[in-house]
Amino acid sequence: MKIAFIGLGHMGGGMAPNLVKAGHEVHAFDLSEDALRHAVDLGCIGAGSTSEACREADAVVTMLPAAKHVLDVYRSQVFSNAPDSALLIDCSTIDVGSAREIESEAEERGYTMIDAPVSGGIAAAAGGTLTFMVGGSDQAFERARPILEPMAKAVIHAGGPGAGQAAKICNNMILGATMVVTCEAFVLARKLGLDPQVFFDISSKASGQSWSMTSYCPVPGVGPETPADHDYEGGFAAALMLKDLKLALEAAEQAGLELEMGEEAEEEYEKFVDAGGGGKDFSGIIKMIDGSWKPQA
Ligand code: NAD
Repeated sequence: MKIAFIGLGHMGGGMAPNLVKAGHEVHAFDLSEDALRHAVDLGCIGAGSTSEACREADAVVTMLPAAKHVLDVYRSQVFSNAPDSALLIDCSTIDVGSAREIESEAEERGYTMIDAPVSGGIAAAAGGTLTFMVGGSDQAFERARPILEPMAKAVIHAGGPGAGQAAKICNNMILGATMVVTCEAFVLARKLGLDPQVFFDISSKASGQSWSMTSYCPVPGVGPETPADHDYEGGFAAALMLKDLKLALEAAEQAGLELEMGEEAEEEYEKFVDAGGGGKDFSGIIKMIDGSWKPQA
């Protein structure tokens, strides 16, 4: 299959080569020459533009930073160049409203389009073990599944257009809030004289257990290897967590809901990002909570 892959950053740069390994002809494009060169080194065919990559494509996959990039790339290049038989798959994390808007514009032009945001970070993108949450019709999901599978450990149909994005932001609101409170618990435990390893051994087997505790422990040297063991480098950037929390709260506002825990988590990540922590893994917020973070310009 001929697949256009647009956006070869931290995530797309790992995902596109897995489509090559699955036997597809991947025509890749990114505004960054370095990102494009890296994808070409891993077997993709470099294109000079999104328009060029999309011509004669059987499918188009996009993995872009935010909604404004997605809307612009589809409206200005994909819609005017991809054949209307091409399946359009947006894997970026964007707001539900923009996802529905662009999917409806695609449908008016005769395309089938789905939202397919992912859970799992850079390592899962490179390792082909992402979880895809898909929004779109049953028929679109069945068409997309074999394309997504080589990049995935799970491909789940969440519902109609926008449902993948809805699942993604709700999931990440849980993640953001549980990470903040897990960090607070470790900081309090230490102040109360508990050894972090002992607290982990107890809480990871008790009712305080969560993914943030057991699989992504924010304390260095405790639990499995995580970004905490690498000074909070790599992993899932705090700035992206803040973006996802803002998307969840925007959606809540539109739905007439006030979500206080989600709002608290968003405020904490806003403070950490304002203090220069945006590029650190989101579990690095523990340094702000225990007072060891030195605000950076
Ligand atoms: P990134 O910034 O590393 O990559 C985005 C790429 O898109 C960049 O290389 C950029 O040059 C390219 N780009 C921007 N505008 C473009 C355009 N008009 N044409 C072509 N290329 C363009 O971001 P990322 O970390 O790869 O994240 C991508 C998406 O995945 C985001 O929506 C993010 O929220 C989501 N996500 C990220 C992670 C993570 O751990 N990084 C995890 C899950 C989901």
